[in-house]
Amino acid sequence: MKDNIRYVVPYVPGEQPDEKNMIKLNTNENPYPPAPGVKSILDSYSAEELRLYPSPVSKDLVEEIAALHKVDCDRVFVGVGSDDVLALMFLTYFNSGKPILFPDITYSFYDVWADLYRIPYKRPKLDDNFRIVPEDYKQENGGIVIANPNAPTGVFESQETIESIIEANKDVVVIIDEAYVDFGPATMMSLADKYDNVVVVRTFSKSRSLAGMRIGYAIGSKALIKALNDVRYSFNSYPMTRLSIQVGAESIKDEKYFNECVEKIKKTREWTKAELKNLGFTFPDSQTNFIFAKHEKVSAVTIFEELRKKHIYVRHFNADRIDNYLRITIGTDEEMKTFINEVKEILERQ
Ligand SMILES: *Cc1c(COP(=O)(O)O)cnc(C)c1O
Repeated sequence: MKDNIRYVVPYVPGEQPDEKNMIKLNTNENPYPPAPGVKSILDSYSAEELRLYPSPVSKDLVEEIAALHKVDCDRVFVGVGSDDVLALMFLTYFNSGKPILFPDITYSFYDVWADLYRIPYKRPKLDDNFRIVPEDYKQENGGIVIANPNAPTGVFESQETIESIIEANKDVVVIIDEAYVDFGPATMMSLADKYDNVVVVRTFSKSRSLAGMRIGYAIGSKALIKALNDVRYSFNSYPMTRLSIQVGAESIKDEKYFNECVEKIKKTREWTKAELKNLGFTFPDSQTNFIFAKHEKVSAVTIFEELRKKHIYVRHFNADRIDNYLRITIGTDEEMKTFINEVKEILERQ
């Protein structure tokens, strides 16, 4: 029996403690509520509707996403969070038997999916400043995955860098994971128009405050999206719930609220950067809703443990090259003030 089972080492998400008055800065969630229209939908939702299966093509949601990005609906794929979208992409696009490429320091789910599907992979090293070395992506490969801005580093790579990698890889699929792009300077969405082997992935979990609803999507060429949908419908033909379709569509409609939230978080991020710098932290310049920082004297583990005692949760990765860093999600101004004050006290005690 044991020989018939697929064994994998699962991805480990950040913990989800459930405590009153905790400050949760460990999973890059948004500190602000979703758009007010989302609450209206939830408040007036008719349970009766749940008798019926949802739209298999997630119609209303796909139409809103297509309108937002000014593309046809058949270039949009939606999934249960971008993790679902990415997992199906790995299954659909990486079948050559050649190794796929992604950086050694990036979203730690990529190697888990590759292992799950038995896709060989190589992880070219980011340089000492956590920057991509484009030359590393000019070797033979079965596909490329780049998070931009990257996680957990927060580093943004220019369109020039990304496009130079795409130019050298026109016969494989290149996935650009833009989970944090709304907090950054530019999107690579135009590259998905220009190159039919490029797919851009987005999520509602961070900038749209809907991590709990699980909505993600991808935009690519018709051929790539069709291939993805064919795999999807061979697996689960009603992935999105009636509620997530409606809530997702509603969230897109309120652009003003969305922009206000994103701007608030960016402002708080810049404040937090300045405070951390004053306290002796160094970090690559973040273009996301988190900061990836290490202290000049005190170890990340010490700060992590001490914060934890105060019910302040940040993320620490016990991984090569980054085990002295903490990934700190940007919360509200008040949360970040409390966080900075606690860090100050911790540093003074060392
Ligand atoms: C958060 C995150 C995701 C997954 O987000 P979902 O909640 O599944 O939509 C994907 N990629 C990166 C880089 C992320 O940080």
